[in-house]
Amino acid sequence: MRKLSVIFCLFASFVLSANAMAGENVASPRKRVVVLDAGHGGIRSGAYRSKICEKDINLAVAKETRRQLLEKMSDVQVYLTRDTDTQLHENKTTDNRRRALFANEKGADLFVSIHADAASSASVTGPTVYLLSFDERLLEQNRDLATRFVEDDDMINIEDMSRSSMGYIIALSNQMNNDPLNHMFANTLNAEFKAHKRHTREIRYNIWTVLYWLEGPGALVELGYMTNPEELAYMNSKDGQRELADALSDAIVKFLENLNAMQQYTEDLEDGEQGDDASASATTTAQTAVKGSENKPADAAKGADSEKGYAIQLLSSKTILDANDAQFKIYRGKVQMKEGAGSYKYKYCLVGYATAAEAKAELAAVREYFKDAYVVQYEAGSIKAK
Ligand SMILES: [Zn+2]
Repeated sequence: MRKLSVIFCLFASFVLSANAMAGENVASPRKRVVVLDAGHGGIRSGAYRSKICEKDINLAVAKETRRQLLEKMSDVQVYLTRDTDTQLHENKTTDNRRRALFANEKGADLFVSIHADAASSASVTGPTVYLLSFDERLLEQNRDLATRFVEDDDMINIEDMSRSSMGYIIALSNQMNNDPLNHMFANTLNAEFKAHKRHTREIRYNIWTVLYWLEGPGALVELGYMTNPEELAYMNSKDGQRELADALSDAIVKFLENLNAMQQYTEDLEDGEQGDDASASATTTAQTAVKGSENKPADAAKGADSEKGYAIQLLSSKTILDANDAQFKIYRGKVQMKEGAGSYKYKYCLVGYATAAEAKAELAAVREYFKDAYVVQYEAGSIKAK
């Protein structure tokens, strides 16, 4: 298959050199997306010790992490849920929820909520990495926590919600999907904290509101304890913040590199399978190579070829993208690839509208994420000429 890929690339670069149609969303080369969340902000200070607000430490470390991340990695896009001293909403639960929804909207490959801790004892120190979990025992414990945190909506109050509710089922399903990646990140981050001489502890689990609505992988990190005077001074200093951001950005880079390696491995496996199919057909023209590449199972899901109808085209690309590509934002995994004219021949669409009117009715909502999206007609795997 490697040979066929080369032929395909040559073919592609030879034939497909024109620019995309004006006003069309064009896919850019794959960039990983990271959303950093500086906890609290604005009307909410978080923990408060010796005239130092947690929200300020969180923000300084988030910004420094972004700076270092962009320096350490070129193919990464970094968003902050806030980069000033502001809340995302007056209501705390809504505020927390908006942070997760922001990450979903950006199609985040990783979400990290940054906090600083407080304890009743001044001797407790060191960072803690928290993951979301719906472990039965935790749910039981959370019944108490839910009462304890009644003034403080950082925690999902499970007393308030039916365990069988749709929201809970979606959150549970997301959490189960993301759990291996969440652990990969948490372990990497703990190793980095250790390498940076911070006292580390086991991964902890809770039903944090800010992680609850998250579709992709994510963690909440407490950088250290503001109740320990030494650690407070460290977290409030430029050097301390730089060091913590160094640990965070190193862990994020390693996590994303692992993600890339995993994706490459899957693609290679699938290329191998496809290679067998292609050799069985005993045709070696460039045209066949192109066709072979398109039919890779890893590629964005292709519609059943018998289908026809209307679709909303989100973006077009010169190359084949994975249906889970972060560029598809909230429509990750939901797009289908159709072929169309021009050099950006791979069109990624939301399909299945019986009439143009039906598709148009959805268009406004889609344009919140893809401002140049428009309605097209398709038949089998292709966009019909306008
Ligand atoms: Zn906090």
